[in-house]
Amino acid sequence: MTAVYNFAAGPAMIACDVMQQAREEFIDWQGTGMSVMEMSHRGKDFMGIAAQANADLRMLLNIPDNYKILWLQGGASTQFGMLPLNLLGARKDADYFCTGAWSKKAIKEAQRFCQVNIVASGESENFTTIPESNTWQFNPDAAYVHYTSNETIQGVQFADMPDVGDKFLVADMSSDILSRRIDVARYGVIYAGAQKNIGPSGLSIVIIREDLLGNVTPNMPSMYDYKIHADNDSMYNTPPTFAWYMAGLTFQWLLKEGGIEAIAQRNQHKAEKLYAAIDMSGFYRNPVAKPYRSRMNVPFILADAKLDARFLEEAARVGLLNLKGHRSVGGMRASIYNAMPEAGIDALIEFMQTFEKEHA
Ligand SMILES: *Cc1c(COP(=O)(O)O)cnc(C)c1O
Repeated sequence: MTAVYNFAAGPAMIACDVMQQAREEFIDWQGTGMSVMEMSHRGKDFMGIAAQANADLRMLLNIPDNYKILWLQGGASTQFGMLPLNLLGARKDADYFCTGAWSKKAIKEAQRFCQVNIVASGESENFTTIPESNTWQFNPDAAYVHYTSNETIQGVQFADMPDVGDKFLVADMSSDILSRRIDVARYGVIYAGAQKNIGPSGLSIVIIREDLLGNVTPNMPSMYDYKIHADNDSMYNTPPTFAWYMAGLTFQWLLKEGGIEAIAQRNQHKAEKLYAAIDMSGFYRNPVAKPYRSRMNVPFILADAKLDARFLEEAARVGLLNLKGHRSVGGMRASIYNAMPEAGIDALIEFMQTFEKEHA
């Protein structure tokens, strides 16, 4: 493959092995003479692909039997609305952590359907930290507690899942699912868009505890009802079949690489290396409080913002792509999901050091 490293936040890099296998099977999946894209979602071949992906995800994340995995469309953004519609029941309140741009979007959408209590907000600190747990304020009437485990734009990540007592947690894990071990049994719902750490865009995965199904707000479209998707094994309508297949290839790759523990270790090592290089330099800076630095998205700014364009141009010339930070934060951002090899981190660090020598 061409020697480029794609640091985009999403859609993002997909593991090279996965891409190669998809290429080999693209026109003729296992002697069927058909591409997965051309198969009926109700045919035996695709049903097999779907079931295997389901089983592999269950194994990777150790998902208990009383949880359903839903394969949906509409991105994580659709979940921002589906969650309150399915989880509020008779309640009118929900708790939300506000730790960055994606939390804010989730909150804004939830406010269309309920009263949102902000448990804690990092906004006054420009989302460079997460407030200490002794400042958190829960609403006893809240139906659930929502948080964004990794803020893709600000590069802020919860080090551990927040302790919310007897309330159940709902987590947007779009940008860190499958990057580290989680205890699924402590969540009510986990959801993620696929395009960061799983596969192509167009697929969202929802992992939901069975007893939470069946409470959708009356008179909603069927497609907004988690129970309808669960009862139909995510085939109430045509699911995003090719993305589901690609996700399955990624899960097999992860298992082959040693599963979540192995990938988590690798992610920690990759992130530590990059943060160390940033912290050691007098030229680059990451503004996030150390305990909350993301292992997936590493924003950094240059000592002189006038050099940004030059940095991006020279980086691209050596195959380091899509390092531009989100427009709301500025500077740079290196997204280093599971599929980013350590060699990509090494190449980035080497480039950064050379650039610093030439321009500092
Ligand atoms: C990318 C992202 C989203 C939005 O995902 P879409 O699939 O574009 O709707 C939501 N939350 C987080 C944390 C994200 O990183």
